[in-house]
Amino acid sequence: MTLIESADIKIVGVGEGTWPTMRSTLERIGVSETALFRECDASFKQGGKFTGWTTGAADDAYYHPLMIPQGFSQVNLVPHWLQAGQGRSFCDFVTPQGRLCDEGLAPKTITHGEYKGSANYAYHIDAGKFAPFLARHCIEKLGVRHVLADVVQINQKESGDIDGVLTRQAGEILGDLFIDCSGFSALLLGKTLGVGFKGCGDVLFCDTALAMQVPYDSADAPMASQTISTAHEAGWTWDISLPTRRGIGYVYSSRHQSEESARQTLLRYIGPGHEDLPVRKIPIRAGHREIFWKRNCVAVGLASGFLEPLESSAIVLVELSAKLIAEQLPAHRDVMDIVARRFNEVTMYRFGRIVDFLKLHYVLTQRTDTAFWRDNVDPATVPERLRDLLTLWKYQSPWYFDEMDRLEEVFPAASYQYVLYGMRFKTEVPPEDTADSAPTAARLVRENERQTQELRSRLPRNRELLDKIYQYGLQPV
Ligand SMILES: Cc1cc2nc3c(=O)[nH]c(=O)nc-3n(C[C@H](O)[C@H](O)[C@H](O)COP(=O)(O)OP(=O)(O)OC[C@H]3O[C@@H](n4cnc5c(N)ncnc54)[C@H](O)[C@@H]3O)c2cc1C
Repeated sequence: MTLIESADIKIVGVGEGTWPTMRSTLERIGVSETALFRECDASFKQGGKFTGWTTGAADDAYYHPLMIPQGFSQVNLVPHWLQAGQGRSFCDFVTPQGRLCDEGLAPKTITHGEYKGSANYAYHIDAGKFAPFLARHCIEKLGVRHVLADVVQINQKESGDIDGVLTRQAGEILGDLFIDCSGFSALLLGKTLGVGFKGCGDVLFCDTALAMQVPYDSADAPMASQTISTAHEAGWTWDISLPTRRGIGYVYSSRHQSEESARQTLLRYIGPGHEDLPVRKIPIRAGHREIFWKRNCVAVGLASGFLEPLESSAIVLVELSAKLIAEQLPAHRDVMDIVARRFNEVTMYRFGRIVDFLKLHYVLTQRTDTAFWRDNVDPATVPERLRDLLTLWKYQSPWYFDEMDRLEEVFPAASYQYVLYGMRFKTEVPPEDTADSAPTAARLVRENERQTQELRSRLPRNRELLDKIYQYGLQPV
């Protein structure tokens, strides 16, 4: 395997929120978790906190945690919460994780081995450090050949397959299968093989990001355990706590807000004293390629498409695509088109589901204060599948059955539950529907309380644990 990378064309270098799949991906390829924390400025992520999305009022906030509800496979706790749990958020009714986040607690202790924890977790990472860290690992431990060179031409066979790529510094490099990881330019799949781009800006309006790196006031400032996504007049800010700084950005719709006004929104969110920090503008185009694998070329990452980073769905798609390619790697050119068809079907499904899930965050809003929020609830902007589900969910909540659809669903039914009921969606539940499962539900709710208290008393704060990891390291797997 050869990785060709330009020394001059920089990686996009943003993308600081990951999904818990990252733990199994890194473990599987033999990366040390301790090294990840020490070298990539990584921290723990236990979910997202969404503020201002439902009403925009001061107390408007909910969590999308990474732990699934207690006893998820046995009982659906949604109807029980709808009937009896009011006064407590859905998240607090079914999992300890929101309260762990409220207190800035880590998901594990120093005695947990690498990749193990008491609470489910992913990472916040410095993308600029993580990419070279992974490259080093792959070169030194996995035998990947790394060529620093610019691809200037792509040579095709008569059949249309890619034969090789011509580089400025290292001549032509031939191959059987080409993975297009060239970022937004989609050099191989888009520019060479002519696969078109399917935009979805009519559903997801945000098309620009302004990103900043903001220092802490002091080296020991507390670190949030979750990504904080705050809704504003024409988009939302991400706020990610890394050990040495915060990564903060505003993702907005340029159709609804000017760049100057968006900058003011971002600076207002960050607070005074940061006006002179550099702001990086990144245009984003919501959508994906019409297909992802054509002939002997498959696109992964930004070359395959991009959807706004509200739920950190990009890197998880990279992981899932890489896994699928590795597992299904065609043994012969004769079977490649069959594998490609299957890959395209799964990846198209995944992009579609992510679009639905992201739109869910917008369509449930009760905000009417700006055109951005009013336009977002226009039924014409809601994909048909999501419209159907919203109708269904008025009478039954998403649950176990709903994730039997596909293996390795990016967002499981639990994620839909957290967003729906975090945003005060109403599902009608007749009392007789909960009678049989009431004793089990009551036990699970008690167990949740017990576990919450136990974890709160035992788990360290993020910085405390990170300092111990820097000093002693975690037990290797
Ligand atoms: C504002 C923003 C926020 C994001 N936040 C998140 C997030 O929180 N979570 C998440 O999961 N994802 C996020 N993402 C997406 C994430 O950043 C990307 O999915 C991830 O970084 C992978 O990017 P990539 O490798 O596909 O492309 P890039 O980082 O653009 O890398 C492209 C590579 O191709 C090489 N290249 C290009 N052209 C040539 C050439 N001619 N010759 C040789 N080499 C070439 C470059 O040198 C570079 O190494 C975000 C993206 C944006 C824009």
